[in-house]
Amino acid sequence: MFIVFGCLIGAAFGSFACCQAWRIRLREEQRKDPGKRSVCLSCGKKLKWYDNIPILSWIMLKGKCRKCGKPIGKAEIFAELFGCVSFGAIVWSFLKDISFDGRLFEAISEVNIPEMITILAAMVGLMIVAVYDGKWGEMPVSILLFAIIMGGIYAMIGLIQKGFSLENIIQVLGAVGILAGIYYLLYFFSKEKLVGGGDWILCVCLGLLLSNWRLALIELFLSNFIGAVVMLPMRQKKIAFGPFLVVAFVITFVFRDYLVSALMIG
Ligand SMILES: [Zn+2]
Repeated sequence: MFIVFGCLIGAAFGSFACCQAWRIRLREEQRKDPGKRSVCLSCGKKLKWYDNIPILSWIMLKGKCRKCGKPIGKAEIFAELFGCVSFGAIVWSFLKDISFDGRLFEAISEVNIPEMITILAAMVGLMIVAVYDGKWGEMPVSILLFAIIMGGIYAMIGLIQKGFSLENIIQVLGAVGILAGIYYLLYFFSKEKLVGGGDWILCVCLGLLLSNWRLALIELFLSNFIGAVVMLPMRQKKIAFGPFLVVAFVITFVFRDYLVSALMIG
């Protein structure tokens, strides 16, 4: 039930992320007031509530505006599906070790609610950054800052719960250092040709959220792997890396326990 609830909220936030990305773009780049209601970007028709239901409306309208028939855009349905799957999976990763014997409140009290809320809040920011980067190859600074603050809170909750030992602190700093450090070097030496200036700042947030340098290495490998598999057939010169970093982050985060224990033995 909680996982289904996570999926529904995730789809709604995926839709919200797209909407916010467009609003930030209109406000900051074109100095336009986006208005309060959602509109079709081609003809300006105000959307009715039933045309604004995540995933379902896109399928019913076949990805086209009801009035003018222009395509709504693939980023919208991708973000909604990604939000749905990633929120559901993240909620699952917090519930999977909880034993449920019929007593609901005892089971809920075992869930790490502060960590779960913080990571989901960070995910909203990360999805906005990913959509924005995918569409325009830049990242909005205000949202990056929000995601980093959420990452900082998440890392702090972890340290408070696990204790401020030198080893735990090194885990967090190591994760940030590996991810942000390598992306900063790539950015610096390739003079923005390989990775953009936003990528290493995004990596500060992802490092904080992973809080484990082994997981940071997995994230590094996975994001590059997914990026290569998706982008190689397209032969584009400039690659927006944000979406791949965020997708790889969700996979790494959801399977964090298995990955860490697998790496510890090896
Ligand atoms: Zn339209």
